[in-house]
Amino acid sequence: MDTSHRTWAEPWKIKMVEPIRMTSRGERETAITEAGYNTFLLKADDVYIDLLTDSGTSAMSDRQWSALMLGDESYAGSKSFYKLVDAVHEVYGYEELIPTHQGRGAEHILSQILISDGDVVPGNMYFTTTRYHQERAGGRFVDVIIDEAHDPHSLHPFKGNIDMAKLRSVVDEYGAERVPYVSFETNVNMAGGQPVSMANLREVYEYCQPLGVLVMLDATRAAENAYFIQQREYGYQDRPISQILREMTSFSDGATVSSKKDNLVNIGGFLAVRDPKLARQARAMLVAFEGLHTYGGMSGRDMEALAVGIREMVDTDDHIRCRVGQVEYLGDALIKAGVPVIRPIGGHGVFLDAATILEHLPQDRFPAQALTAAIYVDSGVRGMERGIVSAGRDPETGENRHPGLELVRLTIPRRVYTQSHMDVTAESVIRVHERRESIGGLKFAYEPDTLRFFQARFEPVA
Ligand SMILES: *Cc1c(COP(=O)(O)O)cnc(C)c1O
Repeated sequence: MDTSHRTWAEPWKIKMVEPIRMTSRGERETAITEAGYNTFLLKADDVYIDLLTDSGTSAMSDRQWSALMLGDESYAGSKSFYKLVDAVHEVYGYEELIPTHQGRGAEHILSQILISDGDVVPGNMYFTTTRYHQERAGGRFVDVIIDEAHDPHSLHPFKGNIDMAKLRSVVDEYGAERVPYVSFETNVNMAGGQPVSMANLREVYEYCQPLGVLVMLDATRAAENAYFIQQREYGYQDRPISQILREMTSFSDGATVSSKKDNLVNIGGFLAVRDPKLARQARAMLVAFEGLHTYGGMSGRDMEALAVGIREMVDTDDHIRCRVGQVEYLGDALIKAGVPVIRPIGGHGVFLDAATILEHLPQDRFPAQALTAAIYVDSGVRGMERGIVSAGRDPETGENRHPGLELVRLTIPRRVYTQSHMDVTAESVIRVHERRESIGGLKFAYEPDTLRFFQARFEPVA
C-alpha cells in the first residue's frame, strides 16, 4: 500500500512508560542558578522534557531488550561481537569492525593512527569531540563546508556538502601527503543536522582516491542523511533507505560512528574500515585504550542490542520517516509562529537562531547560552548551546572562536516523546521569543580548558 501521501504515525506502540515531573518556576530558577546557567549541569530530575541531546537517549525496542539476555560476556571471541560484525557489514558495508565505548573512542583511535604532527584534516564543519581528537593528534582541522552552511537563511537542500574548491585549495596548499584523510560528516550536527548529497559524496571520493587521501565518514547520522537523499535528490525517490545508505558508504574508506544516535542504543560506537592493515593498527590501539578487539568498549549485551538496533534503523523506512517527521513537526510550529530557526529543518533537532532572537546581545555575552537557560526556566524544557561556548578557543592564539552560527539546539530523542511533548515545547519557545528583549547576557564564572561547554559555569551580567 502506498502511504506516502498520508499523515504518518509512530510505527510502534508504547509498552512501558517512565513518569516525568513538571516543576514550578521557582524550583527551575533555583536549579538553573545552581547549575551555573549551563543545562549540562542540571539534574535530569529537574527537567520536564529533555531535548539536551539525541545521544544515548533513544528508547530501545522490545527486540533489543530481549537481545540483552543473549549477550555473550566471553572475554575473547564473544558471539555477540560476531553478530555485530555481521550487522555492520550488512548495513554499512565495511568488513573490519573496531568496537569502542562510544563515538569519541573511535575518533581517538582513528586520529592517533592516521594523523601526524603538522597534518591538515579538512572536514565539513567541525564536531566538538572529532576536532578535539584531531588536534590532540597534532593535526589542524580546516573547515571546507559550503558557505550556505553558515547562513541560517539559506534553503540549500544539502547544506552539509563539501565545497570542492575549498577542498582542492587545502590539498594544493599543503600537498596531499600532509592530508591523511577528509573528515566527512553525514547529516552535519553543528550545521543543524544538514545532509550531504550523494553527488557530493561521490565527487569527494573520486577526487581523493587518486591522491591517496582517505575519506573517513562520521557516519553517526548517516541513516538520517540517507532519508534526506531519498526525499531531495533526483533518482533516489523509489530507493529504500538501506540501499541509499550502502551507496553512501561505498564512497568512503571507513567511518566512525557514535551508536548512541542512529543506532538506537544507549551506549556504544565503532570504527569500521575496509583496509585490513589499517584495522590491525586500530586494534593495537584498541587493546591499550578500550578493551580486547572482540569487545573494545562494550559488554556482550551492549553489542547484542546494538546489532539489533543497527538493523531496526533501516528495516523499514517508516522509522526514519517518523523520526525526522517529528523534528519537522516541531520546526514547522516554530516557523509558523515567526521564531527564527535554521532552515531547512534538520534531521535530529530544531536549531533556534539565537543571534537573531537576542540581537541585543553581542556574541561575547553568549546569547545561545542565555536563551537555553531562559527556555528551561519557562517550561522545564532542556536544550543546549551550540555557538561561541561550544566553539571554544583557538589553540594557537587562545582567542575565542566566533562561529557564524549562534544556536540553541532542541534535540529530539528517538522513539521517546509524542507530538504533545512537541506542542508543549513549541508553546514555551514561542512564549520566550515574545519576551526576548527581557533576556540578559552571561559571563563565565568558570571556564574549563577543553570542551568547555560541558562543564562551564556562568553568571548574569548586570
Ligand atoms: C555524538 C557525536 C560524536 C561523538 O560520539 P559520542 O558517542 O558522544 O562519543 C561524534 N560525531 C558526531 C557527529 C556526533 O553527533
